[in-house]
Amino acid sequence: MSFKMKKKVNTGRTPIYRDAGFYLGDAGTTRQAFENEKDHPWEPTEYIYTRYRNPSVVSAEQELAKIEESGWALLTQSGMSSVDLALSIFQRAGENQTWLMFSEIYGGTNSFIDKVLIERRGINVQRFVPEKGAYNLEVLEKTFRETKPELIYFEIISNPMLMVSDALAIIIIAKKYGARVVIDNTFSSSYLWKPLDFGADLVIYSATKYLSGHGDLTAGAVCGNDPQLLANALEYRKLVGHILSPDDANRLESQMKTFRLRFEKQCANAYALARILEENEMVEEVLYPGLESHTSHANAKKLFDSKGFGAMITFDLKGKDAKEKEKVRDAFISLLQDHIPLIPSLGDVRTTLLPVEPVWGDKYPMPGMIRLSVGIEDISFLETLLIDTLDRLSVEF
Ligand code: PLP
Repeated sequence: MSFKMKKKVNTGRTPIYRDAGFYLGDAGTTRQAFENEKDHPWEPTEYIYTRYRNPSVVSAEQELAKIEESGWALLTQSGMSSVDLALSIFQRAGENQTWLMFSEIYGGTNSFIDKVLIERRGINVQRFVPEKGAYNLEVLEKTFRETKPELIYFEIISNPMLMVSDALAIIIIAKKYGARVVIDNTFSSSYLWKPLDFGADLVIYSATKYLSGHGDLTAGAVCGNDPQLLANALEYRKLVGHILSPDDANRLESQMKTFRLRFEKQCANAYALARILEENEMVEEVLYPGLESHTSHANAKKLFDSKGFGAMITFDLKGKDAKEKEKVRDAFISLLQDHIPLIPSLGDVRTTLLPVEPVWGDKYPMPGMIRLSVGIEDISFLETLLIDTLDRLSVEF
């Protein structure tokens, strides 16, 4: 006996469509679906094949476009595949393209630039390096005049020094010289600033971080307004197979519904902890854009208004020399391990930490430096934990 469910259940949520391909029924519908596909619509009339597009993924993308207030958003399997997607659609074979990439960006992206864009694809990449903790915009304009880059790529808040770029001024310069602007907004998120509102062409995210927010999902996103860039991005994602899985898209959609609440709390907690760290005798320096002492505090105030300053804090523990700093750092990590785990990611609702020198090596050879990704825990719990731990360190050292 065959059994067919008669009642369709509607919960108001998009279900997880795990189907690899979709039921098209007849030859005429099939022909029409493939014909329509040539226009690369964000939400197709007929779904064909999950690598092209999937209803669960489109539903999560629409949730993200609401958060971002963007014309469209596409999801990929990781932040790195979003970097690849956003940059590859501007590449043209056989042309000697110059792109200007800022030096203070995620290490994985810097390696992608070296190993893929330069070594394999032959892009002429220039690196734009900051002077004394800030990008010099006069030098930037001179670079545009001299090298005429077609595209620039930067992050609003850098990692691990948390330098905030004067993104608005940078976009204005880039547009004056007709360059495309691609921004990685992972650390600041659209809660603090929306680059698309100010002329950026594409914004990318490691959704592994704040957008998903629970340290249990790897995903990336590219957001934009231009329909031609959407068509190019959809075609590239389909051909290289970068689409996020329906299961992960469905989880991401649920988790993004609390994004704003989480990030707002994370920023508030980080501000409170940065102020505590700044006053503690065991701490030599605190890098947090919300503190007046930070080199890019003015940029952060200008860009983020009064919404917050991000949820990452980098600080240097005291020690009379490099050896002692290393010991203080290791003791700090060990004292906190039950409450603040050492995890090489960020943006989780739990506070996590990462020692800087073992990860960045020669680029930041600071043995006492810790990068803290602040979570949503009760702030008095975090404050007491941090103060008690630093007190114990001061007795030991
Ligand atoms: N962009 C930034 C700023 C990141 O911090 C990361 C990862 O840490 C990435 C991109 C890459 O993201 P994923 O690890 O999700 O590929």
